[in-house]
Amino acid sequence: MVGLENKNIWIIANWKSNKTIKEALEWIELVGPRLPKNNNLKVVVCPPFTDVEEVKKAVMVGNYPLIVGVQDLSPFEVGPYTGEESAAILKDFVDFAIIGHSERRHNFFETDEMVKEKVEMARKNSITPLVCIEGVDVPIPEGVDLVAYEPIFAIGTGEADTPQSAGKIATLIKQKTGQDTQVLYGGSVTAENASSFLESKILDGLLVGKASLDPGEFVQIVEAVSGGD
Ligand code: PEP
Repeated sequence: MVGLENKNIWIIANWKSNKTIKEALEWIELVGPRLPKNNNLKVVVCPPFTDVEEVKKAVMVGNYPLIVGVQDLSPFEVGPYTGEESAAILKDFVDFAIIGHSERRHNFFETDEMVKEKVEMARKNSITPLVCIEGVDVPIPEGVDLVAYEPIFAIGTGEADTPQSAGKIATLIKQKTGQDTQVLYGGSVTAENASSFLESKILDGLLVGKASLDPGEFVQIVEAVSGGD
């Protein structure tokens, strides 16, 4: 338990390219009713684009304390951009977007400039951007106050960074951008290690990939952090 009384804690499920609509809805039906209702606990699910509309409907019908987000969005306005998902359209369904994930930077050659443009599109459409960085040298676009530190060696490897090292990086990021920046840790977070990252109270949440796919494990992560408050 980390104490939710005086600050927001974010727990973000990044499903990556996983789950059919049926599987997504099963996850929502299992996880939604088990989430604690606490204004300082921000639990977010980021499904693939194809699941987003149905997930949003299920969250609204169940009145679950779950924010729906996307894993990426277009750097362009609506218009002739084949295959792109524009923020102006996504905003009907989502309030949150992961931007600049290392898998996009490395597999899809996303640059710092594109990250900046995507952040601008998100903000223009009232979508909260979470910018992922691999280390303190990666630029953070102006106005961003939610950042995820995700070291490459820890993503999907089962080799998480230590809470001490993640805390040090978070402190450096906050020194660079301002104390109001909230810094999350991501990389091989599990139900077992989740609470250790938040004990020092420097980090403001967790970005969870693989372990978020299993509804039971994701609920355990939320409980480990919130104490079921
Ligand atoms: C991620 O890709 O954002 C991530 C944290 O993945 P995993 O938890 O699987 O390491």
